[in-house]
Amino acid sequence: MRRRAFLVLFFLWPLFLFAEDQYVYITSTGTKYHTESCSYVAHSKIKILLSDALKKGYLPCKVCNPPTAVELPSSPRPESNEASIIHRTVVGTVTGITDGDTVTLLWHNQTYRIRLNGIDCPERGQAYWKAAKEFTAQLLFSKPVSVHVVDIDRYGRYVGDIYLGNLYINAEIVRAGYAWHYKKYSDDSELARCEIEARKKRKGLWQDAHPIPPWEFRR
Ligand SMILES: [Zn+2]
Repeated sequence: MRRRAFLVLFFLWPLFLFAEDQYVYITSTGTKYHTESCSYVAHSKIKILLSDALKKGYLPCKVCNPPTAVELPSSPRPESNEASIIHRTVVGTVTGITDGDTVTLLWHNQTYRIRLNGIDCPERGQAYWKAAKEFTAQLLFSKPVSVHVVDIDRYGRYVGDIYLGNLYINAEIVRAGYAWHYKKYSDDSELARCEIEARKKRKGLWQDAHPIPPWEFRR
């Protein structure tokens, strides 16, 4: 009897751990993350928090279907909208490009408008608006991405950091000269560095001698 109870506990213990802490498993060379029982991690297995795996750009394995969203411990889930992605990191597919800094994300059969955090692309009617949109489209359209959603803005768009594999897309757009670092809302040092670099190399919109910041154009 005691032996049976012990066995039950023994087999339930890994499940219990998994549910509590949302751990997933990676290998030393792969780009995907897995559940503990996946055959891809039979030989090499590195335990990692799901949130860390997503932040580092690992994508979910298509064979074992590991979880694709994690609640950030600091923020409670909003009660009204179960499907809300705010304060979560989710893995979805980019299905639309509104402009350089706004895209549509498909996640679990729902679409979400994502405003890229900390950057500001030229507005429609400004120079380089189209070039910025095309740059973002070329990077993200129909790609699987992980999005770390930090906020929702007054237009109902989710504000987020987008990763394609290990690539931090918000920074790539600034680095290519298709966005300003949006300093009013962001003190991210990487974005600041990318803007300085783009200005120096006269990339994209910095080819103009006096580009007008989009936030001034909008006034
Ligand atoms: Zn797997």
